[in-house]
Amino acid sequence: MDRQEVFRGLSGRNAPACFAPLRTPCYVVDEKRLEENGRILASVAEHTGCRILLAQKAFSNYDFYPLLAPYLAGTEASGLYEARLGAEEMPGKEVHVFCAAYREDEFGELLRYADHIVFNSVRQLKQFGTAAKESGKSIGLRINPECSTQEGHDIYDPCAKGSRLGVTREAWNREMTEELAGLLDGLHFHTLCEQGADALETTLAAVEKGFGDILPRMKWLNMGGGHHITREDYDRTLLEKLIRRAQEQWNLQVYLEPGEAVALNAGYLVTTVLDVTENGGIRTAVLDTSAACHMPDVIEMPYIPPLLNGEPGNAGENVFRLAGPTCLAGDVTGEYSLDSEPEPGDRLVFGDMAIYTTCKNNTFNGMPLPDIYGMDRNGQFRKLTGFGYADFKGRLGKKA
Ligand SMILES: *Cc1c(COP(=O)(O)O)cnc(C)c1O
Repeated sequence: MDRQEVFRGLSGRNAPACFAPLRTPCYVVDEKRLEENGRILASVAEHTGCRILLAQKAFSNYDFYPLLAPYLAGTEASGLYEARLGAEEMPGKEVHVFCAAYREDEFGELLRYADHIVFNSVRQLKQFGTAAKESGKSIGLRINPECSTQEGHDIYDPCAKGSRLGVTREAWNREMTEELAGLLDGLHFHTLCEQGADALETTLAAVEKGFGDILPRMKWLNMGGGHHITREDYDRTLLEKLIRRAQEQWNLQVYLEPGEAVALNAGYLVTTVLDVTENGGIRTAVLDTSAACHMPDVIEMPYIPPLLNGEPGNAGENVFRLAGPTCLAGDVTGEYSLDSEPEPGDRLVFGDMAIYTTCKNNTFNGMPLPDIYGMDRNGQFRKLTGFGYADFKGRLGKKA
């Protein structure tokens, strides 16, 4: 992604100097960009009548839920805790939950928080569906349209061969009964990852082919997440056309539940250079932030995040690896051509750091968790939470 676009929220702010008062490493959530994303999502909902939920697994910094709530229909949860968080922190809005398998000992409590419950298998629908229906919930089943539109990372492809995610038409035919199908209010699919509306169009054709006979009996269709709706070049006209068509063709309510798109480019990870090393001509700036701990998707996905102070890759001057202070040899965020040679004490700023970071980080190597700040429209910082030794120790044994 274009550096200017990623860091647009910092224009006119004299970054990175504006971050000087903050102790690093820290995440800074950009309220202005969150609001811009919210407005874009709300416009899609307005134009089409679809309803859009925040997938909390990508972004669950609930201090910003009041800011986002006016633009959204509610939250989507991956299980009990996220469902409770959505119910508590975005009160009065819808709470949807999808989990690959619900637990008997939690299901009663889940019913207190969620209003839409999506099952991942016919067996789970059979186990919990009646109880959910009797407590007034809207019931859904996740389908697997067996349509991979992404290449390269199977780990993020719910349609990869043998996937446990969603009921294929073959499994439906094998296991579904009239009685169980009668419990269903909606179908749900989630197959995309950082994709455009063209991939949704391809997927919808597969959904129609596999489940077109069932959809007219449904009240809603949830098209999952992975729609990169707030990215500059996303084709929202096509998205809106597809949503309208689905709603008219099958006479149902469409839901979308993006995570990334809600907080895309709405956060920064501010870090300080601690040391600079050289080995065999390769120069490395060792930072006070760790890819493995503080931006785990860099290693898992993998990807190289945007940087305010340089460009990813080795085309250019001042080529340095940026790496963490942990003992993991592979704790490398990437190779960058920096705007200037890094010195200990310099501040660097990674972009697009609001998503899959604060909700996914860890304390491997005894690394501290970065503090979390909000940055308002005027560039004022507000510390939301901070972490210390007790947060590291408390996860490992008896509480102090
Ligand atoms: C991950 C996930 C989402 C959100 O995906 P993004 O790529 O962050 O938009 C939505 N729904 C389900 C079921 C998911 O697993």
